[in-house]
Amino acid sequence: MHQELEALLSKASYVVAFTGAGISAESGVPTYRGTDGVWNKYDPAKYADVGYFFQDPSYYWHFFKDVRYPVLQEASPNAGHHALVDLEKQGLLKALITQNIDGLHQEAGSRNVLELHGNTRSISCQGCGRSYGLDEARARLEEEHPPTCGDCRGLLKPDVVLFGESLPTDTLRRAEEESRSCDLFLSIGSSLVVQPAASMPAIAKQSGARLVIVNMEETPFDGKADLVIRDSASTVLSGIQGG
Ligand code: NAD
Repeated sequence: MHQELEALLSKASYVVAFTGAGISAESGVPTYRGTDGVWNKYDPAKYADVGYFFQDPSYYWHFFKDVRYPVLQEASPNAGHHALVDLEKQGLLKALITQNIDGLHQEAGSRNVLELHGNTRSISCQGCGRSYGLDEARARLEEEHPPTCGDCRGLLKPDVVLFGESLPTDTLRRAEEESRSCDLFLSIGSSLVVQPAASMPAIAKQSGARLVIVNMEETPFDGKADLVIRDSASTVLSGIQGG
């Protein structure tokens, strides 16, 4: 249990959590900026860029088959994800803003999740909009590469915000509203360098909230935070009681 965090939680009435890749690292989903070599085999400037996706979609779909799909098949929520579910059930955590695209918060049971960058478990046809799940997309890959829609032959694309695409307007607006409304903002497992997502802690702080940063490494916002905890997300979160 982290005493300073406990004290801030006990005084709070409206908590908003903001999560990044670090909270899923202990579920076996590598971060971009970590040293794990698995994803380094593929270049994010290619598999995560919308211009490159439409130029050469087969690159993304090789990455999907080789890395993304097996990683997501194996991954399950960890103690950090579950602790945030408990905080929400207690009525203290009002919203969970995430940059993650792995769907692990929802799998753990979190309800009010605002996904700023979409969700990679859902895939859409660029022609007719038909939606495919992870396994269905994987099965389409056995038929053709890159995969197309079984109905209209349109190209399949994951429902994630790639570099070069705009964030979903309504989700971004709601995330900003929640950041303004809270009295305690918990940033967990994010390097806080990807914009505009990383502006949320600043919005919260400017609106009078206390800011807590839980991250293994330094972030550009550490100087503005009321509390910085440099430890793993699951260790810190699984020790909190809230309420
Ligand atoms: P990031 O990779 O920039 O930073 C992750 C941070 O987490 C690092 O600073 C690291 O020190 C910290 N960290 C690593 N393990 C940790 C742990 N166990 N506990 C606490 N902190 C830990 O991630 P970001 O800030 O989310 O930005 C990267 C972008 O990449 C996002 O836009 C996101 O959409 C995408 N992404 C998502 C996933 C995912 O869905 N799981 C994974 C990789 C990248």
